Amino acid sequence: MSTLFLAHTEADGSLAKAALEALAASVQLAASLGTPLSVGLIGENPGPAADAIAGCGAGRFLSVSGGEFSQARYATDAAAAEALCRAAGATLITVPATSRWNRVLPGVAHRLGGRADTHVTGIDASSGQAHISRWFYRQRMEAVFTRSTRPWLLALEGGIAPAWQGAAGSAHLEAVALTQPECRTRVVGFEAPAADQQTIRPDAELLFVTGAGWTKKQADGQIKLGEAETLILDFLRGARASLGSTKSLVDLGGEGQAILPFLSHLNQVGQTGSTPRHAKGLATCCHGEEPHTVGWRFIGERRAISLDANCGWARGKADVLYVADAFAVMAKVNERLR
Ligand SMILES: Cc1cc2nc3c(=O)[nH]c(=O)nc-3n(C[C@H](O)[C@H](O)[C@H](O)COP(=O)(O)OP(=O)(O)OC[C@H]3O[C@@H](n4cnc5c(N)ncnc54)[C@H](O)[C@@H]3O)c2cc1C
Repeated sequence: MSTLFLAHTEADGSLAKAALEALAASVQLAASLGTPLSVGLIGENPGPAADAIAGCGAGRFLSVSGGEFSQARYATDAAAAEALCRAAGATLITVPATSRWNRVLPGVAHRLGGRADTHVTGIDASSGQAHISRWFYRQRMEAVFTRSTRPWLLALEGGIAPAWQGAAGSAHLEAVALTQPECRTRVVGFEAPAADQQTIRPDAELLFVTGAGWTKKQADGQIKLGEAETLILDFLRGARASLGSTKSLVDLGGEGQAILPFLSHLNQVGQTGSTPRHAKGLATCCHGEEPHTVGWRFIGERRAISLDANCGWARGKADVLYVADAFAVMAKVNERLR
């Protein structure tokens, strides 16, 4: 039995926080099982990244390097991962659950005749055998299970362990040779929205959720979309919060009504949306219905602002409910943030 931790380097040659968290969990796993740990790195020049984690206790540092391995591409990522797994002869293989790894992991498992499990939220090897935790049915049921098939490939979710910290050093990097995969996909560059247009921020302390109430007729009989947009964006900028939404609000766009242009279905929190993790959450103009609040499962302190004293938040879904006009409250909050 042996464990292999796989990671790819970032554009600057370093390892991302998610990779260091998965490394910490892998070090712990190998120690609990009493098995050797190897590290496999993929990137243009993984040497500096290997040196940075030289003190992690791995017995071997393997790499696949070269310009074509610096960018996310199924053909090169899968071929590199397969070659590293074969070279290490590992029975347990761990990767950070980035979109890049989630895309190739099942294919790599198939090539190796193994099994892959994605979205792993915990590993326990205290019994001498690895058991993983994973959520099912939209985060409503948690299963703890093991598998006998080897190799077993695990994509570890961010935040399951603190990022690995330790001494840098000089890692002896073994280059793994592989047949050059066919590259039909050419990566021509990245297009990313400006930082202040990026409303989904997994690392933010606070999740700010907007509901359909922002688009409804208010007490004076008016719909105030412009004011809603300014209040929401000002708050996001001031608090560096991540933006979530209810399904009703993001669905309005699909029905051809004017809505808030910076919201998409990616912002939707809930049973058919996402289940983000933040220390705090603030819901505004939202009713707090069960299919929505189930997505708040991993939010620490929950507060809500709704005009309706009988809304779902009042029935045990929130720690604090402000029965108030969110337009007025957020204007005051933004004033203070300024
Ligand atoms: C199978 C299934 C899956 C679903 N999945 C999801 C999901 O993933 N996510 C999700 O969100 N929903 C989901 N839903 C829908 C969910 O049940 C609700 O319909 C939805 O969450 C309601 O959105 P809302 O609270 O924004 O809108 P509404 O129910 O219209 O509530 C708007 C609220 O805004 C308040 N309000 C209005 N003006 C103000 C103001 N000025 N200040 C303060 N409050 C104000 C009103 O009092 C009201 O409480 C699902 C439903 C089903 C059946």
